[in-house]
Amino acid sequence: MKIFRQHSELSTWLASATAGDTGFVPTMGALHEGHISLVNEAVANNTTVVVSIFINPKQFNNPEDYAKYPVTEAEDLAMLKSSGCHAVYIPSVEDIYPENTTHIPLLLNHLESILEGPNRPGHFDGVVQVLHRLFSIVKPDRAYFGLKDFQQCKVVQALCKQYFPDIQLIFCPTLRESSGLAKSSRNRRLSSQGLVKAALIYKALKMVADAHGHMPLSSAIIQSERFLSAQDIRVEYLACADSDTFELSENWNAEGHNIVLIAAYIEHVRLIDNLQF
Ligand code: AMP
Repeated sequence: MKIFRQHSELSTWLASATAGDTGFVPTMGALHEGHISLVNEAVANNTTVVVSIFINPKQFNNPEDYAKYPVTEAEDLAMLKSSGCHAVYIPSVEDIYPENTTHIPLLLNHLESILEGPNRPGHFDGVVQVLHRLFSIVKPDRAYFGLKDFQQCKVVQALCKQYFPDIQLIFCPTLRESSGLAKSSRNRRLSSQGLVKAALIYKALKMVADAHGHMPLSSAIIQSERFLSAQDIRVEYLACADSDTFELSENWNAEGHNIVLIAAYIEHVRLIDNLQF
């Protein structure tokens, strides 16, 4: 497995190494089985697989969250090596954003004005900037993302529609702990009690999905919010949307494609999750 820290070296290697398809998995490191499930999918369907590890400062609206983001490079590299990944790109901030970097415009419309958008100002713009740069360097045939970050998947679709129409996007299911808690790099910041509490987030999503057809959507949301606040869990948002259009729902969608999404804080750590039903 090759390790590159400069885009120029990665580009040279990619130009000489690849005959066949390139699969790409962008990450911020602190890898877990959820990330590796994306890499496995990429390895199964591409000749060359590149994983990037870059904690993108532009997508952190909260400086404390950026400062506390876990860094576990040695463990990450060991996991990637055994997954069959071919190359890892671990750039510096300067390698991703050189001095002459221009801002990439992208109209996100309602993606920016609901849920993660207003709660993390500038976050999706930062995601757009880093992915535009990474896609321009790696030039993948396929790029792999987790449905855990559902709204991000929609943003990536918008980015590719405008700038990279030839990249095939593959969205992979959320890997969970046996408790139901979605695997996340941020879970490392939780105490053992925090991990137990965090599993209630998934339970609250299930409560909404299970209420489908039994009570109005607004009552199902209130019931789940009360369940979480009774456990002292601060909910930033809990809402249902149409998983195709990503418009917020006021009523259950009769044709299916409902998704319930949440952001909540456990021990000051912001966690997100969602469930489609
Ligand atoms: P991150 O390192 O958090 O930026 O995540 C890198 C990629 O891994 C993103 O596409 C995430 O959606 C995906 N991912 C994170 N957690 C999970 C999970 N539990 N299951 C599947 N994919 C995940």
